[in-house]
Amino acid sequence: MKDQYGRLIDYLRISVTDRCNLRCVYCMPEKGVTWIPHSEVLTYEELLTVGKAAAALGIKHIKITGGEPLLRKNVTEFIARLKKTKGIETVTLTTNGILLPNYIEQLSKAGIDGINISLDTLEEKKFRKLTRNGEVKDVWKGISSVIPYDQINMKINCVLAGKDWQKDAVHVAEIAKKYRIHVRFIELMPIQNQEEKGNLEEEIKALLEDVYGPMRRCEERIGFGPSVYYELPEFCGKIGFISAVSHKFCNQCNRIRLTCDGKLRLCLQSENAVDLKSALRQGAYEEELKQLLEKGLLEKPREHRFGCDCIEGEAMSRIGG
Ligand code: SAM
Ligand code: SF4
Repeated sequence: MKDQYGRLIDYLRISVTDRCNLRCVYCMPEKGVTWIPHSEVLTYEELLTVGKAAAALGIKHIKITGGEPLLRKNVTEFIARLKKTKGIETVTLTTNGILLPNYIEQLSKAGIDGINISLDTLEEKKFRKLTRNGEVKDVWKGISSVIPYDQINMKINCVLAGKDWQKDAVHVAEIAKKYRIHVRFIELMPIQNQEEKGNLEEEIKALLEDVYGPMRRCEERIGFGPSVYYELPEFCGKIGFISAVSHKFCNQCNRIRLTCDGKLRLCLQSENAVDLKSALRQGAYEEELKQLLEKGLLEKPREHRFGCDCIEGEAMSRIGG
């Protein structure tokens, strides 16, 4: 499936819920969040119908996201069914990690290919502040629970924010030194607070090179996304960067997103979306959905507009990151 700018689209992010057990400052407002009513959330059957139609059009990789996806009941059964969908090669998950110890066995049985865990700092106090009351030790328990599962590709996603980000960068990078886990630094996107600026890839790289020695750009392709990876001497895992604002990668964008209430979003930043829920609830099946997806793809913009003064923002927890 190609869009009007010739980009191959083979990656779909499915958000299964907008609920979360954390309230990260850059993702959700502190108060006044209105939850999507359960009746508006797509059922697993509906999500599977979209997955099937998308796979028939060439989607090969699906990421399950949220909100916190492990909060949704029976999500591991859903993942197992998605994995069996013809054409789908990988199903991965992004999570804050807190519930992983409860679900890792079921996730492994479901055939999950990879798990990304968000972790921005190892400092207890700062973690509580950033997540509005999360406990970093719970995330660490989540990470530890995945380590014995060799076949699951684990990555850490780190958004550096606030004072002392340098300390956080070194602490989190250290995980890739000790373990075969890739650590990716994700640039903060100005959604909740449009004044807030993320740290630049160059600054983080210079800092890590000061501490660990020269980084070498990794030529092999890792994963299915826009991350650029580097190797550091004596590191078991790699260091990646996803810098959507400062190093725009829209020309290589391969993804579309489905929100839990059935909106097909063509770009993370633009609110331009196609309503698949109405079609599903009026009885649309695979063929009709395929047509809607193909038509929707025509709306995919050439590039995002973060950094312009015309940002259309929605909590990231509703979009799925
Ligand atoms: N709750 C799960 C988690 O935290 O991984 C999945 C959903 S979360 C919205 C997905 C990813 O979006 C996380 O890695 C999070 O750090 C990232 N994210 C949220 N808001 C962001 C922002 N404003 N800028 C950059 N990344 C953001
Ligand atoms: Fe929840 Fe993930 Fe958003 Fe944090 S980043 S509030 S864990 S959805």
